[in-house]
This record gives sequence, structure tokens and C-alpha cells, in this order.
Amino acid sequence: MRIAVIGAGIVGVTTALELVSHGHEVVVFEKNTGIAQEASFATSGFIGPGLIHSWTVPQMAARVIQKMMFGSGAYSFHGLKNIPLKWLWQWSSACTHADFKLKIESLQRLAFYSQEVMKGISEQYGFQFELSKGSILVCRQEKEMKQFQLQLDLMTANGIAFKKLDPTETRILEPALSEEIQFFGSILFPNDEVANCRQFALLAKQQATLMGAEFRTGQEVLPLSLESSKQIQIPLQPKEDFDHIVVCAGIHSKSLLKHLPVNLPSLAVHGYSLSAAVREHIDAPVYGIVDAKHHIAIARMGQRIRVSGITEVGNNKKPPNECVQLLYKTLNDWFPGAAKTHEAVQVWRGTRDMLTDGLPILGHSGVPGIWLNTGHGNHGWATSCGSARAIADMVSSRGCEMDLKGLGIERF
Ligand SMILES: Cc1cc2nc3c(=O)[nH]c(=O)nc-3n(C[C@H](O)[C@H](O)[C@H](O)COP(=O)(O)OP(=O)(O)OC[C@H]3O[C@@H](n4cnc5c(N)ncnc54)[C@H](O)[C@@H]3O)c2cc1C
Repeated sequence: MRIAVIGAGIVGVTTALELVSHGHEVVVFEKNTGIAQEASFATSGFIGPGLIHSWTVPQMAARVIQKMMFGSGAYSFHGLKNIPLKWLWQWSSACTHADFKLKIESLQRLAFYSQEVMKGISEQYGFQFELSKGSILVCRQEKEMKQFQLQLDLMTANGIAFKKLDPTETRILEPALSEEIQFFGSILFPNDEVANCRQFALLAKQQATLMGAEFRTGQEVLPLSLESSKQIQIPLQPKEDFDHIVVCAGIHSKSLLKHLPVNLPSLAVHGYSLSAAVREHIDAPVYGIVDAKHHIAIARMGQRIRVSGITEVGNNKKPPNECVQLLYKTLNDWFPGAAKTHEAVQVWRGTRDMLTDGLPILGHSGVPGIWLNTGHGNHGWATSCGSARAIADMVSSRGCEMDLKGLGIERF
């Protein structure tokens, strides 16, 4: 079949690779001049089910709103008009709804499956993408560990490995941790990983191209229409017919679907990362580290250290100094001297497409020929390969290996 993929972020590129390896003729449309230039550009890099943090645990909405309104460097908020009330209401309902545990489990399951699929792809094609094993959630205070307990209980029930560590045990694993910092303890996720998302996207594109997929960059697809739902329209070009279209356009998916009866309750939630060269290898982290207080990640990616996080809503034109300073401070709290933060630091702002229940949408849109693989929010790198395989299986009318219950558009 002839299939169009809209968007060449990590989700679109992995979808293209899966579709072409299922034997389809694939054309990828990307509005930027290159691939992975938006949300997939400089992510924290975390993969695996351990540090999946759902946006829909009880009290999450209240906690985040309070932090945004009353000031916490990790949360930045630029005006109520940027958060549609309907979105807010649906989100806070999702946080208290009886099925919130099922939602977290779905996300953990998808991340688990995705990691397996990614491993298979990397082995099959020999991809090298700065992968390192294991992540650690470091908790300054006991209450931070308690806030994570619900996820840990679900992991225990589902056989996902983790281990609670005291500070001494943590320091054995992470010898470069600052001697100054006092903390309560940590949680080790030995099977989680950290890796370079953009690099994987570039390799996957190269492989998909070798297998026959066509990537058309610099081509912005106009909003899809109900009358000709299987046609792609690029400005000043004739319409082009496809058997199926898969929408993988991240935060732009909503506007692509605006003429269709498809309700995509997404919100743009921005985040930041700093990438700087490693100063001394001995001072750099071994594992992917997440500071539970600020939800800020510190990870080594090849020859660089990346510090990332922040939840920002609204149209702020320039990076708020407070947010960026918090990234530097968090690095300095845990790994002082690990990175060359006085030279050539790359500061990046990316936009997550966050749906009200924190899960992506995978499946048929309800409009003939249009499929959705979007809404990946905080975890699109961790869920990309599994989502791509699931969509390719569905489009090809094959049975999916993974249970996709609760991930379709019908839930909205
Ligand atoms: C600071 C930060 C840290 C993060 N850390 C992690 C992490 O550790 N682990 C993790 O799993 N996730 C992480 N994420 C989330 C992850 O980055 C996203 O979920 C993921 O990149 C989404 O990928 P995507 O392909 O859906 O979107 P994108 O990468 O944004 O790709 C969408 C593409 O569609 C293109 N497009 C849109 N509209 C059109 C159109 N009309 N025509 C043609 N092309 C179009 C865009 O140009 C873009 O290239 C992080 C995000 C941020 C901001």
C-alpha cells in the first residue's frame, strides 16, 4: 500500500521504518529542512518503564497548578488564556478518575514493549546511539519517594525491576555525586536506559531510506479534509493520493486535523535542556539521574552532559532565566564540575504535546484512511518504537503484539 507519514520527529521516522519493513511504499512529509528538529531534538533521553511519570496521578493537577501559580523554578506559567479551561477540567478529572491506575499501567506497558522493539531494531541494523544502562531517581526528602510509591506498586505488580537505595548505596553506584548534598535516598531502575533520541532518528531515517522510504523535507502538509481524507496537499503542488495517512506531527497534529471530526485535547507544554561537554569523566554521572524534587534529569550522552526538564505553559518569547538557572543549579547540586558550563552550552526549548490523560493516541482516527500516532507528551522517545510497530501492524491489518486497550481516540 502507498502510505503517507506526516512529521519526521522520532515518532514519524520510526513509524516510517516500521511501515517500510512491513513492505509498504512510504512517503514522509516534514515541514522543516531536516528531521527531528522539534520535540525530538535534544530530549533528556530516558527510555524504559521505570521513570514513566504520569500526569494523572491523584493530586497531580493541583500540585502542578500550585507550583505554576506560586512560583517554583521548574514550573513556569504565562497566563491562564494559554490553558483552555476544558483541557484543565479534563486533566483534573483524569487525575481523580477511577481508572488512573490503568492509564499508568498502559503507559508503563507501552514503554516496556517499546524498549524491546528498539533493542530488536538496533541489533538488526547495528545502530549505535550513545546508549547507557540504568537510571536513578534521587530524592532529597522522604516525601518525594512517597509521591512515587503508586508507580512503584504498579511496577511490583507488573514485574518491572527497581531497588530502593540509601545514600551510601547510591554513592557506590554514582561515585561522582557531590559530597556536599544531603539526600534521603534513591530508586534504581536497572533496566531503564538513556540514549540519544535525535541520533536514533537519523539512523532510522537512513535505514528507512535504504529500504525505499522517501523523505520529503521542507514540505508542509495543509490541514486534512473530510471530503478527500486520503489526499495530501502541499501549497502550490497538486494533491497526491494515498491508501493511508499516519499523522505523527507532534504538537501540530491538532491543527492538521482541525477540519475533521477528531477531538485531540492537546496542550503545548514546553521544556528546556542544556548540553555541555564533559569536563572530567570521573566527575560525570554513570546512570541517568532524575532529581525528584524538580523533575530535572542529568545524563551523560557520549561526550556531553545533558540537563533537562521544566514544565512551561504559554507563549514566552525567550527562555525564562529562572528555568535555565535551575537547570544549572541542579547540575551543580548533584554533579559539580561534571560539565564545561562556561563554554558553548547548547540551550534548547522543546514542546511536548500533552493530552489530558497523559497517554498518546494510537490507532484509527475514525475518518477513512487517517491514523494517529501522536500526543506522546513527556515520553515520546520512550514509546516511539513500540507505537510505530503497533501502528504499522494496525495499518497492515496484522494483529498487534501489544494490548492497545485505552490508547485509542474513542476515549475522548
Ligand atoms: C525537555 C524535554 C525532555 C524530554 N525528555 C524525554 C525523555 O527523556 N524521554 C522521552 O521518552 N521523551 C522525552 N521528551 C518528550 C519527547 O521529546 C517527545 O514526546 C517526542 O520527541 C515527540 O516526538 P514526535 O515525533 O511526536 O514530535 P516532534 O519531534 O515534534 O515531531 C513532529 C514533526 O512533525 C512535523 N510537522 C508538524 N506539522 C507538519 C506539517 N503540517 N507538515 C509536515 N510536517 C509537519 C514537525 O516539523 C516535526 O518535525 C522530552 C521533551 C522535552 C521538551
